Amino acid sequence: MSRRLVVALSGGVGGAKLALGLSLILPGDELLVVANTGDDFEHLGLIISPDIDTLTYVLAGIDNPVTGWGRRDETWSFMDSIGALGGEDWFRLGDRDLALHVERSRRLRLGQSLSEVTSDICRRLGIGARIVPMSDDRVRTRLRSEAGWIDFQDYFVRQQCRPVVHELAFDGATSARPHADIVAALRSNEVRAVIICPSNPFISIEPILAMSGMRDAIEASGAPVVAVSPIIGGKAVKGPTAKMMRELGLEASAAGVATRYGDLLDGYIVDHADADGIGDVGARVTIARTLMRSLPDREMLARVTLDAADALALLR
Ligand code: GDP
Repeated sequence: MSRRLVVALSGGVGGAKLALGLSLILPGDELLVVANTGDDFEHLGLIISPDIDTLTYVLAGIDNPVTGWGRRDETWSFMDSIGALGGEDWFRLGDRDLALHVERSRRLRLGQSLSEVTSDICRRLGIGARIVPMSDDRVRTRLRSEAGWIDFQDYFVRQQCRPVVHELAFDGATSARPHADIVAALRSNEVRAVIICPSNPFISIEPILAMSGMRDAIEASGAPVVAVSPIIGGKAVKGPTAKMMRELGLEASAAGVATRYGDLLDGYIVDHADADGIGDVGARVTIARTLMRSLPDREMLARVTLDAADALALLR
């Protein structure tokens, strides 16, 4: 089969679960994970890329299973110490996690690109699949609430998603160039499927799709585009996806997410819990168990998603 490459668009926690499932069933050179960088920010003098970090730790098998972000077997001496000094401790950086931010920041300041640093760190941690930042150019997600525009991490971490969101902006997205490896992959005629992971559509997937040329490149790849719903039983498994949908005047449902992606979707994977209300979403719907608790859950959902994509490809 010449079409062997799977391109997965991902945010952090939800996306990384499916990306791990895909990495368990595909050889490393057949999986390219496009990581959202709209959440990136500078903090304590460090350049932090939360979604790349979550993907890296999860695919390396060193993620923290309790929090869903950060590293396993973490300790917090740095945070405790900086807090005691009156420093900023609202964004939790564990001692082991800190090493990645310090090392990445050092290399970026030496002039390496985010993608070069990411690729080298992935290699050192033994990750077979490729994790590629959506762009090496700067894109920053901001949100408008009652109090005006706020930066993403201020909303997400400092204010724990409490502000009501009226609007989102991805500063820099229209001038940012999608990473050359992503564009080359999509143009290669080798893409088997484009998978939209069960990530938050507004803050994890739309920054990727907002870069100019990205949607067109996905459509022109000729590969089926299949999304997995991040909404199960009308609720987000974690995080503000459903809350944001309501605040933006959308229906907080699996169908609402599909509507948001619109005609980009060829296939849509929905949980049994949402099967009744799904109706016609303009994409071929597959009903599956989509809650990924265990490793076999992740692997099974990855298989279901790829099977759905392969079935769609046969119809072309
Ligand atoms: P973030 O960047 O860390 O916020 O993470 P993502 O955007 O990748 O993922 C957040 C989304 O993942 C939320 O909307 C959750 O509902 C969804 N999610 C988390 N775990 C699961 C799961 O096991 N199954 C499905 N279908 N969605 C999940």
